[in-house]
Amino acid sequence: MKIDAVKIEELIKNADPSLANVASILEKASAGEGLGLEDAATLLSVTGEEALQALYGKAGEIKERVFGKRVVLFAPLYLSNHCTNGCVYCGFRSANKTVARKALTVPEAVREARALEEMGFKRALLVTGEDPRWGVDYIVSCVRAIYENTGIRIIHLNAPPVSVDDLRKLKASGAGVYQAFQETYYRPAYEKTHPWGAKKDFDYRLDCMDRAIDAGFQDVGIGPLLGLYDYKFDCLATIAHSMHLYEKYGTHAHTISIPRLRPAEDMAFAGAPYPVSDEDFMKIAAVFRLSVPSAGLVITTREPAGLRNRLLHIGASQMSAGSRTDPGGYTGGKKDTLEQFSTTDHRGLVEVMRSVVDEGFLPSLCTTCYRVGRVGGEFTEKAVSGQMEKFCQANAILTLKEYVLDHMKNGTREAIELAVDKALAGVKDPALKKGLIEKLGELEAGKRDLFF
Ligand code: SAM
Ligand code: SF4
Repeated sequence: MKIDAVKIEELIKNADPSLANVASILEKASAGEGLGLEDAATLLSVTGEEALQALYGKAGEIKERVFGKRVVLFAPLYLSNHCTNGCVYCGFRSANKTVARKALTVPEAVREARALEEMGFKRALLVTGEDPRWGVDYIVSCVRAIYENTGIRIIHLNAPPVSVDDLRKLKASGAGVYQAFQETYYRPAYEKTHPWGAKKDFDYRLDCMDRAIDAGFQDVGIGPLLGLYDYKFDCLATIAHSMHLYEKYGTHAHTISIPRLRPAEDMAFAGAPYPVSDEDFMKIAAVFRLSVPSAGLVITTREPAGLRNRLLHIGASQMSAGSRTDPGGYTGGKKDTLEQFSTTDHRGLVEVMRSVVDEGFLPSLCTTCYRVGRVGGEFTEKAVSGQMEKFCQANAILTLKEYVLDHMKNGTREAIELAVDKALAGVKDPALKKGLIEKLGELEAGKRDLFF
């Protein structure tokens, strides 16, 4: 694909975020069918409390229409921090001699996955640096071994862009979503921040989602690394990227992640070259939600707890919890010397669940869509037409009940059980409600992994 930088710059320059214009764009967004680049550029230029609040409110409304109250929780599992690339912002970059290097063996990867399972997670996002010694065959072995030896139900990948043939191997291992971030879509900034290694090739990375879909991945995840370049440019380019996938393959990006630059060991600069404030960050989340309503909007533990809670109300639909960014971090004690970057929200799964509930949302450990083939264009279609909401809500209730039965002994248990009851009471479709009550009974009786 091509990024039309001139067009994006023009859109930013000509944006008119007057209250009247913003109001008419938000009215358009109410249809839940997404927004074009021009409207997104206008919303990204919004300032002033009144317009911002209206934007946040609309984003929350659309999120709820597409996915209901549910917020999917997951954890990253770092396999290896060996890397041959020079990304100036990353603790794993090859020039960083202070970081201790480690690649988990396959049994160690299984142990880490088991540790996540014991915490209650059902999905894991495998993450690696880029080093041919721990390349695709290694990742495939880890994926297969985790599926065979743990109760993790779906594995997603955040792995370096590879060839179509290698992507086919990754897909064949049973991976769900293939995720890789462009970091910045502005070529000069990309070249400056990726001085060497395979990742230096801007176009090869940009085309990797096309290759992934050609290789059989129907769900792909994209995102900018906020702080490397002007956020307006990178957000518009990310939306353009998703539109490109929709036009070519009939599927929008399954997820859009919005990592914001964090301090990392031996980082090549003191702070972000283009800092993104909390207010800008919330605006960015809202604009992605309204522009690509079907996409899962992923907020990680790079962000502080208070801000993550606020983001629940303005479009966030997926969150990591209890994350470690060092290979072996879940089983080996805390070793900062192995970390990719420092996280901010250190709460464990149960604490994150509790605050999701306290904010009025429903934590979910659902893994259904990838396993029943509700993927790609079909997922986009169902999400946009409002058909996903009932599945998301029902499956959140079931996975939460399982979590209560298997992992909760005291304290927060009551709050989560109340959330299950409240969500069940809110299910409007009588047939779905009847089915749910039956399945909840089956869970009580010892069955597991039930879904719609
Ligand atoms: N190595 C692969 C790659 O670069 O695509 C896969 C994953 S990399 C470990 C995961 C992501 O972490 C990167 O794509 C980047 O967006 C993000 N990241 C790297 N350094 C970061 C930092 N200092 N703060 C926040 N996010 C960072
Ligand atoms: Fe390596 Fe990825 Fe870090 Fe770049 S972002 S140095 S490719 S691990």
